[in-house]
Amino acid sequence: MDLSRFTALTILVGLFLSVSFYISKAEDPHAQDSVKGNVICLIPNYEKGIVTPVVATAPCDGSTPHAHVIVEQRGKVGNVYAVQGSPEALERLEKTSNRTNVVVKGKISGSDKGWVITVD
Ligand SMILES: [Zn+2]
Repeated sequence: MDLSRFTALTILVGLFLSVSFYISKAEDPHAQDSVKGNVICLIPNYEKGIVTPVVATAPCDGSTPHAHVIVEQRGKVGNVYAVQGSPEALERLEKTSNRTNVVVKGKISGSDKGWVITVD
């Protein structure tokens, strides 16, 4: 095999690998990712049937059990992510004190109709 054929083959293999890497990444909706934004506690009021959004400044694991969303900060656009995950992962989130402009890692899924981040 001469040098130019070897070079061409090397480029082809490289192209194939990068394309297949790109495809596998694009097809995997559970790829690890992160969201930067504010973590909001949704404190329930069962009498009124509503929740009150709160940006906690201390661990919230002592409050009434509640759900969380992350409001992404990307200029004036962003997404709201429902937070889910194992009890242990959610407990770690609840034990944090800083909830503003934080980076939360997890698996992101959803569409323009709604987003979910699964923390781990
Ligand atoms: Zn909370």
